[in-house]
Amino acid sequence: MAKLAKLDDIVSLCKRRGFIFQSSEIYGGLASCYDYGPLGVELKRNVREAWWKDVVRMRDDVVGLDCSILMHPLVWKSSGHADKFADLVTVCKKCNTRTRVDHLEDHADEHTEHVPVETALVDAADLDKKVCPNCKTVGKFSEPMAFKLMFETQMGANADDTMTLFLRPETAQGIFANFRNVMDSTRVKIPFGIAQIGKSFRNEVTTKAFIFRTREFEQAELEFFCKPGTDEEWYEHWKQRRFQWYIDHGIKAENLRFRDHDPDELAHYAKACVDVEYKFPFGSGDWQELEGIANRTDFDLRQHQRGMRTINDWHEAGGDLQKITLKDEDPEYFKGPLSYFDEQAKERYIPYVIEPSAGIDRSTLAFLVDAYDEEEVDGKTRNVLRFHPTIAPVKAAVFPLVKKHGMPEFATKIANDLKSSFSCFYDQKGAIGRRYRRQDEAGTPYCITVDGDSMEDNTVTLRERDSMEQTRVSADQLKSLLIEKLGL
Ligand code: ATP
Repeated sequence: MAKLAKLDDIVSLCKRRGFIFQSSEIYGGLASCYDYGPLGVELKRNVREAWWKDVVRMRDDVVGLDCSILMHPLVWKSSGHADKFADLVTVCKKCNTRTRVDHLEDHADEHTEHVPVETALVDAADLDKKVCPNCKTVGKFSEPMAFKLMFETQMGANADDTMTLFLRPETAQGIFANFRNVMDSTRVKIPFGIAQIGKSFRNEVTTKAFIFRTREFEQAELEFFCKPGTDEEWYEHWKQRRFQWYIDHGIKAENLRFRDHDPDELAHYAKACVDVEYKFPFGSGDWQELEGIANRTDFDLRQHQRGMRTINDWHEAGGDLQKITLKDEDPEYFKGPLSYFDEQAKERYIPYVIEPSAGIDRSTLAFLVDAYDEEEVDGKTRNVLRFHPTIAPVKAAVFPLVKKHGMPEFATKIANDLKSSFSCFYDQKGAIGRRYRRQDEAGTPYCITVDGDSMEDNTVTLRERDSMEQTRVSADQLKSLLIEKLGL
């Protein structure tokens, strides 16, 4: 029986084996920022690659993009983030802890949609009954206020040309801002998608829970543009496709589910939204969002058309976003610069957008949690990460049984040959049993041992991580056999 992982077990394994470290640890750490160590960086790279392969490379209808993190401030005015991307917070008068109002009642379970400020205001009505999650004092809260989630920074070398910019809080807006460029430079025809993986930044009020919610994180987002009227079909397509992706890469189906957003939870422009949720082992062991899939209609492209018409006002206001309001929409907005001409139907329209939006770090945490297992073997605890081979940071490890009789040379030759096809680790230190255990803990699917017989008959021992079964295979056939077994 697989053991249910606790977050503490995962955090300690991640530190011990070099998956994930606290950022700036030698200076006491920086809250809610994390660094990926030697194994973690490979793991995260594999998660990213697996997403890119499924969403971009294997399809003819999706292209990729990599936008800069810093963008023109009007991007965030048009998207609504500059005015509305905020959480409603209150401060405990006793201990000074700032908490999101919508987290107060059931703070323990860390259930954390960004609730629109207007909705959170309803909750704020009875603050005097609520408990501070830090010091447990009841009803001693300050007047709720909006807390902006975007990080600001300054661009420009001279005082008179310095401009306030935002670190992007999502990657999606860079895709909308490049919609025209991609259409003009490629032969894409609707339906098609533009995908991007990159860093996003949010000054989250509530963090904790390791890499589940951090202030700097990586997103994998797809904006799939389709003809209005076909949007529901595409929404269904991406919903199923994205759910299946997690299962295909080893997440147990019983730990995944869909959660449809209630109508009152939906953003005003969204026609439908569903979360793929994972049963994370923290908080109350509750289901929590792994990825959101939304039907965003034609809202974003229309908003950017309004923003493009506002550029002169922005210059006149000296770049102060607070002093401008977006220009009204042109009545003929559907013929605007971000419209699409459908050659077949001979009509022009603003496409609808289906957006699957995943977190690379949050998925990495789900893969770690789901793969974690402990079992008793010969009276000792064996820690093992049962990663799917595609996700595993190291695919194979090669060991000489002892450091003599030509075994290290034989094993090094094998390791070098395997390295040209996939990540492979060579280790000649310590007892063989201990070397196996170290690889189990790193999630390495196969170990290969070179022993005395290898020198005689050119065979090696192949040990499988999950069953610990050992078989004898020919060194000449090892690479093709592993490629087949790993499904590469
Ligand atoms: P949440 O409700 O968890 O705050 P959200 O609904 O605001 O997230 P989206 O804006 O839909 O999140 O972002 C899409 C995905 O990006 C999320 O499903 C999650 O995987 C990831 N993500 C968002 N915020 C963070 C964060 N602070 N840290 C790590 N991953 C994040």
